[in-house]
Amino acid sequence: MTLVTTHPDRQMAEIADKVRNGERLSLEDGVFLYRSDDLLTIGQLANEVNLRKNGKKVYFIENMSLYFTNVCEERCAFCNFRKDEGQEGAYTLSPQEMIDYVEQHIHPGVREFHIVGGHNRNVPFEYYVESLRALKAKYPDVTLKAYTAAEIDFFSRHSGLTYREVLERLIEAGLETLTGGGAEILSDHYRKKMRVHKANIEQYLEVHRTAHNLGLRTHTTMLYGSVETLEERVQHMIHIRDLQDETNGFQVFIPLSLQPISPKASIRRRNSAYDDLKAIAISRLMLDNIQHIKAYFINIGTQLTQIALTMGASDAHGTIVKEKISHAAGALTPAGITREDLVWLIKGAGRIPVERDTFYNEMKIYE
Ligand code: SF4
Repeated sequence: MTLVTTHPDRQMAEIADKVRNGERLSLEDGVFLYRSDDLLTIGQLANEVNLRKNGKKVYFIENMSLYFTNVCEERCAFCNFRKDEGQEGAYTLSPQEMIDYVEQHIHPGVREFHIVGGHNRNVPFEYYVESLRALKAKYPDVTLKAYTAAEIDFFSRHSGLTYREVLERLIEAGLETLTGGGAEILSDHYRKKMRVHKANIEQYLEVHRTAHNLGLRTHTTMLYGSVETLEERVQHMIHIRDLQDETNGFQVFIPLSLQPISPKASIRRRNSAYDDLKAIAISRLMLDNIQHIKAYFINIGTQLTQIALTMGASDAHGTIVKEKISHAAGALTPAGITREDLVWLIKGAGRIPVERDTFYNEMKIYE
């Protein structure tokens, strides 16, 4: 393989050799890549790794996002979704209200509900269990991908149950996998500065470890683009990689580009396209033990998602229907997308669209 650009720095050539030989990259390698402006070479290396792992297939799912409640006792600095109980716009849907909402918005072919929400202490833990049970009873064929590791930690503190007991209760009610949220940046310095007082690094990892030991295959994220250093981004990936070595329970890594707090924010308050593509490519290169990297069009836009598919991403997420968290902040992207548009987008990048279920079983290939 030749490098796209002739790079005077020997370190890039050494990293290219490591990637070609299937050797693991170090923290220093990852930081070097982040500091480099040679996006084409980084993207080319990530593309090579992705083609080796997944060929030309790019996966997506017909899914629908649901939010049981936006009332939250936390005050993460980047969040514009949360409300206090009683505040204008605050809501907590009963299981029947949630089903009514789904009936109004669901379309044929949805095979996954993606469920997250606030840490609402005004309802008992039973509420979160019974909401899943009601959805599963009404839609037995739709997979319940519900709650973040931070929500599981909150349920544990709220109920007095251990992580294992909380997860067992939820699994019995229909839970099939955890979402990846709540990780933000796995760094104490970041969590202090961004007022992330929910699950800390060890707790985030321990929830996923427990879920993996119970047989769940879960998702994981990184919310980048605020106060964190480049070292912290790479160290975040290494935390995830270490747990994956231990459990092999993560299916996909999802870099989430932080949204400014208002849609009117200037472009300088948004992550650059360079930064978004680097997050995809560098995570593909660092996370040698995770099968998929997801390009999340809600946060980086549909057009950049298409480019990301040529720089390491093998998943274009799903139809979503009506996203609320990034759109409560400054996201300018569509809040959902049709299956036809996703297929068009993937084909436009010269890749093969594959409709999947939650666990990456192939449902339909669009040759
Ligand atoms: S990000 Fe989640 S935990 Fe933090 S304030 Fe928002 S809803 Fe609450």
